[in-house]
Amino acid sequence: LLQINDLNKKFGGLTVTKNLTLSINEGQIYGIIGPNGAGKSTLFNQISGYIKPDSGSIVYNGKDITGKPPHVLCHEGIGRTFQIVKPFGNKTVLYNVAVGAFARTNNRKAALEKAEEVIEKAGLGSRKDVLAKNLTIVDRKRLEIAKALATEPKLLLLDEVLAGLTPSEVDDAVKLIREIRESGVTILMIEHVMRAVMQLCERVLVISYGEKIAEGTPQDVTQDPIVIEAYLGGEVHA
Ligand code: ATP
Ligand code: MG
Repeated sequence: LLQINDLNKKFGGLTVTKNLTLSINEGQIYGIIGPNGAGKSTLFNQISGYIKPDSGSIVYNGKDITGKPPHVLCHEGIGRTFQIVKPFGNKTVLYNVAVGAFARTNNRKAALEKAEEVIEKAGLGSRKDVLAKNLTIVDRKRLEIAKALATEPKLLLLDEVLAGLTPSEVDDAVKLIREIRESGVTILMIEHVMRAVMQLCERVLVISYGEKIAEGTPQDVTQDPIVIEAYLGGEVHA
């Protein structure tokens, strides 16, 4: 479904994506791990059109989408969450999600219906009239996922949606992510919570300083000495 070929990006002198090649099959849950500042979110920003790569190509569903803007990619079915969650605090959950749905349908009634549906799916049914600023951390994460689902993605990019959650909240979110995949969505997830990566991902890409240092099953990559060294001893198993 997604094929990235020899992608490169620099911010001034800082290399954030280096010769990156990656292939994701339809229906997969694919993980991206790597130390802080490795360039994971920047890779998402290139796939979802927020940042243009310097060179290389991104092919989605057989189409070259390199450098296309976010709204075009949203319509093509690439949805995403953001690592830094910024909802409209003084608006309700329903409003926040409906805005995402509206971006896709351009129809008020259809957007509201879609919003209701994904809010339910994300487990926020009882909080749909709560102002976003009054949500707990886990519900903010659920809201972020609901907003992305409202755009009806075929490929969903999740940027650290489990960060800051308690172990039982992580378990619930793992279930939710599985349900999203069951509904036919391919998932690419950046995650530091390794337990969830082990449970969810069929394959994992490990990047460090913008470069692929390993790729394989979660079991294989977390035992790879090169990966363990990149994390300066053990943190990868946390
Ligand atoms: P984390 O795990 O902390 O979220 P990350 O792997 O997502 O890290 P990125 O956010 O992709 O890392 O950042 C990679 C590098 O690029 C960092 O050094 C960051 O400071 C830098 N960077 C990110 N965005 C920009 C930008 N717009 N301009 C300049 N430098 C940037
Ligand atoms: Mg990041």
